[in-house]
Amino acid sequence: MSGFVVKGWCPDAYRPMAAGDGLLVRVRPRLARLTREQTIGLCAAAIAYGSGEIDVTQRANLQLRGVTDAGWRSLLERLVALDLIDADADRQARANILVAPDWLDGDDTHRLANELLARLDDLPVLPGKFGFVIDAGTAPVLLGDPGDLRIERSAAGALMLRADGRATGVPLEPGAEIATLIALAHWFVTSGGTAAGRMARHTAALPAWASGDARPAAAAPRGPVTPLPFGRIHANTLARYLTAHAVRTVRVTPWRALIFEGIAPGTPPLFPADEAAIRADACVGAPACPQASVATRALAQRLAPHVAGTLHVSGCAKGCARAQPADVVLVGRDGRFDLVRHGRAGDSPVRTGLHPDTIPDHIFAEPGAV
Ligand code: SF4
Repeated sequence: MSGFVVKGWCPDAYRPMAAGDGLLVRVRPRLARLTREQTIGLCAAAIAYGSGEIDVTQRANLQLRGVTDAGWRSLLERLVALDLIDADADRQARANILVAPDWLDGDDTHRLANELLARLDDLPVLPGKFGFVIDAGTAPVLLGDPGDLRIERSAAGALMLRADGRATGVPLEPGAEIATLIALAHWFVTSGGTAAGRMARHTAALPAWASGDARPAAAAPRGPVTPLPFGRIHANTLARYLTAHAVRTVRVTPWRALIFEGIAPGTPPLFPADEAAIRADACVGAPACPQASVATRALAQRLAPHVAGTLHVSGCAKGCARAQPADVVLVGRDGRFDLVRHGRAGDSPVRTGLHPDTIPDHIFAEPGAV
């Protein structure tokens, strides 16, 4: 597996990506929920076959870092035994489904996500990063999270289907929700969407049955979550927390945060809420990512207490850690940083080639500073 780099694919357990610290093995728990036993088993596997570091990704996956080439296949067997990945690699690749993490047994999100999982074989072959969003609670919670075909609650209170990149969608017939979503996935392929790769980039006019003026309802406030510094936790820390407190299940969110179910009120939080790393976004940077020429997280941690707005430190212009704009964005390039204000990592910088030691002078002393 050495040097195996997957590009244009969403890496998963069967198609790990090589990083500077070893293989990244991504686990997509069914409906983004793990039992206590699954979580403890995952932690043990992360330590046995990797570095023990676990990332929570923007698709609500758990990414085991530092997995060795020699341990990868044994890790797969452990994950299958824990029922955390499908034994079939193709089915695993198709199960790219983001669910509203606050679903309840029997509600629409739970029902529709299970139906889609049961019908994965009915989907066409889709581009590697193509994903689905099932956000069917009383109001959407995933409007800011990426996904190509989305089932959401509409402003009128019905369920609707919306293609990413379009502001509106169509109301869905009760009972036909997943069949309609699958039909639109087939339309995407037959209308040439594979070349575009993502629905938002596929500019063909939608078929009449998938075009409408239904709008998603206003976003619901997020329920309580446990944010992780830079979206990362060590398996030992997670396993210890589960052991010390009566955590029944763990839910994975796309917000660099977990939800622990079953803990008693007043249980101490896993991390202090004011920890700087919780408020800043920073990708893994160098040396773990081969695209990075700069270290990112130590700088973000140093700057975050002094930045009143949002801060994003990115190892390169790809901006993996944050898709939304931030007030201050530092983007690594050739061992230095470019400064973007109120934008994304790929936007035009207002300053270039900054040494980390001089960055505070630029972000605090200039017009527009936050
Ligand atoms: S933003 Fe660039 S440096 Fe950071 S993780 Fe993504 S590819 Fe690597």
